[in-house]
Amino acid sequence: MDSFKQMAELLFAHIDKTPDDYEALYPPRNLEEGAVVTRFAPSPTGFLHFGGLFAAFTEKTAAKTTNGIFYLRIEDTDKKREVENGVSLIVKGLNDFGIEIDEGMMSETEEKGAYGPYMQSRRTPIYQAYVKSLVEQGLAYPCFMSEDELSAIRAEQESKKVLPGVYGEYAKYRDITVEEAKKRIDAGEEYVVRLKSPGKEGGRVKFKDVIKGEIEMPENILDVVLLKKDGTPTYHFAHAVDDHLMRTTHVIRGDEWISSVPIHLQLFRLLGFKPPKYAHISPIMKEENGGKRKLSKRKDPEAAVSYYSEAGYPKGAIWEYLMTLANSTYEDWRLANKDADIDDFKFSLSKMSKAGALFDLVKLTDVSKNYISTLNAEEVYELVTEWAQDNNERLYNLLSDDEEYAKAIFAIERGNAKPRKDIGAWSDVEDYISYFYDELWTRERDFADNLSKEDMIEIIETYKDVYDENASAEEWFPALREMAVDLGYAKAPKEYRKNPDAYKGHVGDVAGVIRAAVTGRRNTPDLYEIMQVLGAEEVNKRFDEAADILRQ
Ligand code: GLU
Repeated sequence: MDSFKQMAELLFAHIDKTPDDYEALYPPRNLEEGAVVTRFAPSPTGFLHFGGLFAAFTEKTAAKTTNGIFYLRIEDTDKKREVENGVSLIVKGLNDFGIEIDEGMMSETEEKGAYGPYMQSRRTPIYQAYVKSLVEQGLAYPCFMSEDELSAIRAEQESKKVLPGVYGEYAKYRDITVEEAKKRIDAGEEYVVRLKSPGKEGGRVKFKDVIKGEIEMPENILDVVLLKKDGTPTYHFAHAVDDHLMRTTHVIRGDEWISSVPIHLQLFRLLGFKPPKYAHISPIMKEENGGKRKLSKRKDPEAAVSYYSEAGYPKGAIWEYLMTLANSTYEDWRLANKDADIDDFKFSLSKMSKAGALFDLVKLTDVSKNYISTLNAEEVYELVTEWAQDNNERLYNLLSDDEEYAKAIFAIERGNAKPRKDIGAWSDVEDYISYFYDELWTRERDFADNLSKEDMIEIIETYKDVYDENASAEEWFPALREMAVDLGYAKAPKEYRKNPDAYKGHVGDVAGVIRAAVTGRRNTPDLYEIMQVLGAEEVNKRFDEAADILRQ
C-alpha cells in the first residue's frame, strides 16, 4: 500500500463506500434537454429576508421555466446559527410566497426526492468518502496545527503584509508522514483535514458567470479546511460534493459568494466533477437621499419577508413584483399580455441586473393593486379572510359572519373592463369596507364645503323621495340629475362652468352630498352599487342621520 493509501486508511478506516458507490447511488438526472436544476441552500436560521426570497424566486423560476427541479438543501454545518424549527419556518416562508419546493427538506424531519439526505448534518459519511479519496490521491492531509500556532502565523502574515492563511511555508503538515500522523492521533491530538491546494501564486482563474459575465480572479492557493475537527465538512467542501451529487446544473446565489468561486472550481476539478454554472445575483438596492444602498436587514423593515405577509400582499402580487425585479423586460410584457399566466413569460437568468435591482415599495403596491384588481369577488373574499384570520380578528369575524354580504361588497366595480384599484394589500381592506359595517364605521360624514348646510339638507330630503331601491343602474343617475336640475343645479359640470352664477352648483355636487350622506366619504366606488349592497332600509336610515348631523 502506498503511503497516501495508508494515510487514508488511518484517518477513515470506518469509511467503506467510495465515490463510485455514490456516483451510482445518485446518477445524473433524467430530465429533458436544457432542464435546469437549482437549489436554495440556507442555514436553518428560520429567517428569510427579501434578498433570500428573491434568490429562491429566481432559482425556482429558472427551474420551472425549463421543466427542471428546484430543491431545498439545509446547510447546517454551522450549528451555532441554528434555531428551533428553523427548517419549517423557511419552508413556510417560501410557501407563503408561492415558492413550491420540488424536492428536498419539507420540515425538520421530512424530505422528498431521491438525491438526499438534503440536510448536510446527515451526510457526513458521504463527505468523508470523498475526503478519503482525496487523501488517497495525495490531495488532502491531516493538519494538527493548534489554535496558538494558527494565531502565530496569522500575526506573522499580518506583519509581513502577506496573504493570510495556511499555504506554502505556513502549511506545516502538508507533507506529514503516516507514522507521525499515527503517533499524534494515538496521543489524542485533534486535527482537521486540509486540501493540498495545487494553486500557484500569481495563477489566475477565469469563469463565465451567467449574470455577471466573464470574471477573472487569482486562483486559490490556500490549503483550506475540508473536514473540521469533529469530522463534519466546511461550507466549501459540502457545496462541491452536494451540488455535484444532487446534480445541480446552476448554482444561483447572492454575489457575496463570488470570492469563493476559485476555491469551489478548484474543488470541483480535484474531485473530478464537472462544475455547475454559476449565476451570482447582485443585492437588492434601495434609493435613499438621491443615492443607492443595499436593502438592509437592520434599517429596512421591508427587508424581512414577514413584513409582506403581515401587510397582506397576496403572493400572486409578490410574484409579479419579484419578476419585475428579476427581468426588467417583464413590465412591458405584462402590459402587452394582461391576462397571460406569469409562467408564459420567457424568464432569462442572463438578463438579470448586474448593478442590483432597485426595490421600491410604492411600485410593489402599484403592482399589487393591479394584481388585486384582476381577482374576482370570490377570490378576494377567500384571500382577505385567510389573511385576516392571522392578522385581524375583528375583520375576520365580520367577513365570516355574513359571507354573502362581504362578497357583495367585494363585487362592487369588479369584473368590468376597468376595475378599481383601491386595495394594495389586505391591510387596506378594513378601511376600504368600513362604512359597510357598524362595528367599523364612526358614522361621521365628510361633506364637501362648497354648498351650504341648508342646501345639503334640501338635497338629502328631496332625494329620499326620489331614491328607489328597485331602479336599475341605468335609471338611477338620470333620476338624480332631474332632481338636481329641479333644485337649481346645472345638469353637467361643463354647463355650470359656462355660467356659474346661474346655478347653485352642478349635478356632481349633488351626487357628492348623497355619497357623503350614505358612506361618510367624498370618494368611493360606484354609489349605486354601494346603495344596492346596503339596502333601502339602511340607506334611508343614513339619509335621516346625515340630515340630523347637518342640522346640528
Ligand atoms: N449556506 C449558504 C448561505 O447561507 C449557501 C451559499 C450557496 O448558495 O452556495 O447562504
